[in-house]
This record gives sequence, structure tokens and C-alpha cells, in this order.
Amino acid sequence: MRKSHLIKPVLGNDYPVISHGKGIYLYDKDGKQYIDGSSGAITANIGHGVEEIAEAMWNQAKHVSFVYRSQFTNEAAERLAEKLAEYAPGDLNSVFFVNSGSEATETALKIAIQYFQEQGIHTKNKVLSRWTSYHGITLGALSMSGHPLRRQRFSSLLEDFPVAPAPYCYQCPLKDTYPGCGVRCADELETIIQAIGPEQIAAFIVEPVIGASGGAIVPPDEYYTKIRSICTKFNILMIADEVMTGMGRTGKMFAMEHWDVIPDIITLGKGMSAGYTPMAATIISDRVMKEIENGSKIIMGGHTFSANPQSAAACLAVIQFMERNSLIENTETIGEYLLNSLQRLQWKHSIIGDIRGKGLLCGVEFVKDPITREPFEISSKVTERLLSICFEKGLLVYPAVGGVTGFSGDSILVSPPLIITKEQVNDIIDILDHAVGELTSLLI
Ligand code: PLP
Repeated sequence: MRKSHLIKPVLGNDYPVISHGKGIYLYDKDGKQYIDGSSGAITANIGHGVEEIAEAMWNQAKHVSFVYRSQFTNEAAERLAEKLAEYAPGDLNSVFFVNSGSEATETALKIAIQYFQEQGIHTKNKVLSRWTSYHGITLGALSMSGHPLRRQRFSSLLEDFPVAPAPYCYQCPLKDTYPGCGVRCADELETIIQAIGPEQIAAFIVEPVIGASGGAIVPPDEYYTKIRSICTKFNILMIADEVMTGMGRTGKMFAMEHWDVIPDIITLGKGMSAGYTPMAATIISDRVMKEIENGSKIIMGGHTFSANPQSAAACLAVIQFMERNSLIENTETIGEYLLNSLQRLQWKHSIIGDIRGKGLLCGVEFVKDPITREPFEISSKVTERLLSICFEKGLLVYPAVGGVTGFSGDSILVSPPLIITKEQVNDIIDILDHAVGELTSLLI
């Protein structure tokens, strides 16, 4: 067989060749069916093979598929920006398009710093973040990511931006218990800001529901209101990284709506194009934009493919599909059904320590001992083995590991496309049930 030249995520591993996808299903070249229980990387929100998205891209490409944003604007990108601004809360009305979630968070970092520079404040150059978080793989985005495994190789190049504890009640980093703790993890941010000096801090970035690094960690209800007021008190911008949680994934267009908290900057990616094309965005509030408009008027960012008309046409068609099929409403109801079904699995399998999530962003955490919540040894490779058993059985789930300090912890995300039905959820639960049973027998 001819040597493959495509670099794979794990060199030497065998990856099946994909043939096609339809709805929540993917099919490889050998005809094997997989349930996309993770929407790829929490991306394929409207499912696979939706022809109207391809048609929208084709219709746009027939007119013009590329223009450079410094030379022209284009109708598709203008309409998409308008649509996102309509959905965005508060005064988040200006949209900057990029091509990946990492670029979106990196742009947010730069805009936050620029916002203060435009006012003549040149000391606010740090963007604080939390441990057990992931904001992207480029150096700025990785600097903000509290994901030890992804940081370790490049640590000498990174800023030490993760400083705050995650609101991770199941394995509280402060060894406290909710509600008795009074949500001390939020108060801790204030102590940290005072220790560093608010005059050095431009922004604080959060994933509304912690995804890739922790497995759908939902903070206590009071948490974000507290965080918002601490940011406001110290003149620090609040960035909500909604790359994973945005576009309806949690049962609201933006996850921050669950807590009625309005950030200053929001990032989007993944579900925005539902994977039909690379596209992401940074949405900026009027308050922040006003300083730039009255100042340099230029955002020192952007990429060759930013605001690509063909990609914008795809995203517009995705939003139309979501609206026509009431996908956000579906996510809320089916998400609840999925969470309840996963909870039933927890009663059956002692290695399932915690079930959590919002909408169709659900997490399952595995522990050695459900009473003490002691994690498995890293060498047990629990998540990796579960993923491979599920894969074998035709179910895709997403690993959320390596994000907890000390690299410990085994969690997966169960996050199927937002079009999923109850019957299809039952199929996922059935496979997971067998897979966890099989894994348990291997661990004893
Ligand atoms: N932000 C969050 C919350 C993410 O989950 C991810 C990816 O998983 C990113 C940013 C980076 O996005 P991308 O992989 O598109 O660069």
C-alpha cells in the first residue's frame, strides 16, 4: 500500500477513510456506520449532508468565492454580521470574522488590549483566565488556556494567564463544597486581581460551560453574576469564549444567556458554520468599538480568508436551517432527555462519577471511587480506552482530558448534532451502556 502523506493526529494510528455523512450518521469507505455522538469536535450542529448548505455555497461561489477584506466588503458577510448582532445580547453589535476558534479568541485578546491603548492606558496587557480551560492552540490562545497537557511543550513561549480556579464543583480546586462555599472560586478572582494589580489586566476570559478541558463543567448559578461585577469593578473586560457553547449548543443561542450576563466580547466558531466551512467570529460591544472608532480606527488583526463570502453564505444557510427547524428549542428539550438518560447510566455503572451539562453539551466523568471521587491513574488510559470501545461499536464521543492540573481526570463529552431525536439518543445510551460495562470489566 502507498505511504500516506497526510499527517494524522497520532502518527502510526489507523484512521478509517470517511465516505459520506447524513444527519447524525457518518459512514466510512467500508460501509461502517457511526453515530456522531460528539458532532465531531462539537461542531456539526445541524448534522451531516445538508444539501441546502452546499447549494448556498455553490450559489455564492458562482458570483464570487473570494475577496480580500482590505479591498472589498461582501453582501454575505455583511448579512451574517447583521444576523449575529441581532442574536447577540446587549450592545454586542460589531462582528470581526476569522477562520478558527483560536483566531477568534486571539483576536479578542488583542482587541481587549487595544481598547485600553486607545484610551492612553498602556499597562493593561494581561488577559487572565482559569485553570481547566481551553481557548485555542495558537500561542496567544494557548497562553490563555489552562490546559496543562496542551501547554507543557511550549510553556517557555507562553504567558502565564491562567490564574483563577475553575468553578468545578465535582473536583473543587479549593477543596470546598457548594453551596456552603459561597462560590468562593468567583471571589478568588478579586483576590488574584488585587495581587496582580488591576492596572495590568485588560480582560478575563471564560468558557461559559467548560468543554474540552473538563467535560461540560457548569458553574453554580451565582458564579457569572459575581464574575461580571468583579470585572466591572476593576475596569476589566469580560470575554465569553462561546466557540463551543455558542450557536444554540446549550439550548440558548449564547450560553451566557442562561445567567443573563452580558460580556464585553464574545467569540464564536465551531457550530457557526456547523463544520461546512472554516469560519469563526469575534463579536465586540459598542463600548469597546467606540474607543477604536474614535481612536486608530484599525483592528490590527485579520487573515487572508477573513469574511470569506462563500463561508459567510454557508453560515447564513446554517442559521436559516436552525431557525426553520427550531433547533435551539429542540436542544433544550432533547438535552434534558440526554442528561436524564446519562444519569440513569450513572446509577448502573460505579465508574461514572458525575453527569453534567447544559443543552446538548453533556459531560460524563469517570472515577476510580465514586465516594472519594478519586480519579483513575493516568496509566489506566480510561478515556482513551472508552473512546476506542465506543468507536468499535460505532459511536463517536469526545475526550475531555489533560485539562486538569496534574493532568488527571477522565471525562468525555456527549454532544450530538442538535437535530437528534429521542430514539437516536436511546441508541447512543445503549451503546455507551455496553461500552462502559466492557471498560469496567477490563479495569477490575
Ligand atoms: N475555544 C474553545 C472554547 C474551544 O473549545 C476551542 C476548540 O476546541 C477553541 C477555542 C479553539 O477552536 P479551534 O480549534 O477552531 O481553533
